[in-house]
Amino acid sequence: MEADIDHVLITEEQLGAKVRELGARLTEDYDGKVPILIGALNGATLFMSDLVRACRILLSIDFIAVSSYGSGTRSSGVVRILKDLDRNIEGRHVLIVEDIVDTGLTLSYLIESLSARQPASIKICALLDKAERRVANVPLDYTGFQIPDEFVVGYGLDYDDLYRNLPYIGVLKPELYRG
Ligand code: 5GP
Repeated sequence: MEADIDHVLITEEQLGAKVRELGARLTEDYDGKVPILIGALNGATLFMSDLVRACRILLSIDFIAVSSYGSGTRSSGVVRILKDLDRNIEGRHVLIVEDIVDTGLTLSYLIESLSARQPASIKICALLDKAERRVANVPLDYTGFQIPDEFVVGYGLDYDDLYRNLPYIGVLKPELYRG
């Protein structure tokens, strides 16, 4: 698996430190609000599980799955809900937890869909931000790292459903997906 990685972009230690920092900010900002953290499946699962353990407040969690790239590496812009929330979010403080925001199309669809359910507030926490590729204007309230326009895998992010279990964020050797 690791032989397929061209280079490491963000180390395991950097990820750990950033998650602790984000958790401390969320602990302060959401104290007493009992937020519901909504993880975007499947990419955000590892980030989500570390993030909630860094939050020292009462909170609930739920997951939503929306379609994204399939086995390609570029956003299609066509978004569908594949698995909806289990909980009612009306009147709740919602924090969407995303692995990566690229064009922002997936997230803008998600915000629109969840806003219609009348939560008390909606904010976004994204681990990775590829700002230069943004098409949709989505406000990121909490961001882990700005990254360049390279296709990354690891820490929940996949290529063709593989590499999610890498403990760091790495760039795949281009020949593996361009071929
Ligand atoms: P967007 O709609 O913002 O263009 O794309 C968001 C989704 O595309 C992410 O949740 C993720 O599933 C996928 N994605 C975007 N960039 C990358 C990347 O560099 N690596 C991987 N593995 N997935 C990506």
